[in-house]
Amino acid sequence: MPELGTDARPLRVAIVGSGPSGFYAAEALLLKSDASVLVDMFDRLPTPYGLVRGGVAPDHPKIKSVIRVYDRIAASDGFSFLGNVFVGRDIHVAELIQHYDALIFACGAETDNPLNLPGEDLPGSHTATEFVGWYNGHPDYTDCTFDLSCDSAVIIGQGNVAVDVARILATPVDALRTTDIAQHALDVLAGSNVKDIYLIGRRGPVQAKFTPPELKELGQLDDCRPVVIPGELEIDPVSQAELDDPAGSKSGKNLNLLREFASRPAGTTSKRCHIRFFNSPVELKGTDRLDTVVLERNRLEGEPFHQRAVGTGLTEELPCGILFRSVGYRGLPIPGVPFDPRTGTFPNREGRIEHSGEAVPGLYAVGWIKRGPSGIIGNNKPDSQETVRALLADSGQLPPCPTPDSAAVRQLLASRGVRVVGYDEWRIIDAAEVERGRPKGKPREKFVRVTDMLAALP
Ligand code: NAP
Repeated sequence: MPELGTDARPLRVAIVGSGPSGFYAAEALLLKSDASVLVDMFDRLPTPYGLVRGGVAPDHPKIKSVIRVYDRIAASDGFSFLGNVFVGRDIHVAELIQHYDALIFACGAETDNPLNLPGEDLPGSHTATEFVGWYNGHPDYTDCTFDLSCDSAVIIGQGNVAVDVARILATPVDALRTTDIAQHALDVLAGSNVKDIYLIGRRGPVQAKFTPPELKELGQLDDCRPVVIPGELEIDPVSQAELDDPAGSKSGKNLNLLREFASRPAGTTSKRCHIRFFNSPVELKGTDRLDTVVLERNRLEGEPFHQRAVGTGLTEELPCGILFRSVGYRGLPIPGVPFDPRTGTFPNREGRIEHSGEAVPGLYAVGWIKRGPSGIIGNNKPDSQETVRALLADSGQLPPCPTPDSAAVRQLLASRGVRVVGYDEWRIIDAAEVERGRPKGKPREKFVRVTDMLAALP
């Protein structure tokens, strides 16, 4: 039997998921290694790029330009895309390992963390995941409805996703018309009545997770002013110790921005974005639908960088017609792969997936399903490289798969009626979307249903 990773027997790797971490893993395998490797990249949608397409905000087109890098990786010898294939439903892990020597899971963190509060399921209470997927034209969220006829919207959480949601609600709709935002979202946002947007953090300004460039944008919107309560910017000694540490430089920049926001004179903008600290939601109230969120005032306890929010018993009722929980994403299990329900990740060491502390031969993880939902797109590159280093180091010991044949995989999928979409076909969908956007001055009008994507193919 020839050695795996040689021209006589290339190493066959399936990558499950086509977001940034999947593409960086493909790059490390195909363009940055000396081994002879074949990569089949699977995605459950006919469209690639994961959160770059379905998560990055439509008014952040520069961030999306990273797609050009992924296109170059996809053009490498040895790369194939199998879009519209749901691993775990259309084909199972036990079947994939018949045809690939290694599987790399790059399937991200697809769901959201719950708050586990009374009233969380009232109409009007949503997850940020749904809203973001909806305005970005992700087919899973096309049929979601958001009633923006109310005056005030509350967002729980202070990460960059929460800031994205706030900004989309606060931005004058005309400024979104020339982005790739889904038309259905533009129509609803055009009729929005929301004037007061609350970004609620359970801890203080020094602990907020958003990053300075994203916070700064909240202060630069037309016809919306940021509102900060000066008393909430007072810094206790433990938070001051965080600021004095080099690791606190991001927080220092945030604090300067927040102080500048707090010093602005009251204005006459039609919208306001209230950035509030030291408050946790304890109940969502309403009869037929949400109308109030009850917040409990917190104080902080603990060592620098480990401070926890502790309730003080003091509560405040905030009227609110719509609420978005933006308290972090969670990974979902795939049958046949070890899963840690506590962290929502595939347990792993340096990307090698483990069961009861032992590496499972041939199974690897990259990105958010490996490390949890943190970091920006660029963080995925070293993360994926680490996993690929582990995989290549293992390749001498990996049991070669019994049927090293992609045609057999395609036959199996065809026998199940799965319409596999290749990268050239994605290009056709892409061109059709760009064409649909042209008359509106948009970079593209996305297809928001898989059936419409497939109908665009010859
Ligand atoms: P995140 O940065 O982890 O923020 C989650 C927020 O939820 C934190 O403020 C957290 O507060 C809060 N939270 C968690 N549990 C809570 C609870 N039970 N009650 C109240 N608050 C709670 O997550 P994210 O915003 O989903 O972002 C995920 C990653 O994507 C981040 O790395 C982010 O930077 C990145 N991202 C980047 C961009 C960009 O670059 N423009 C855009 C979007 C997302 P604590 O700190 O107290 O836990």
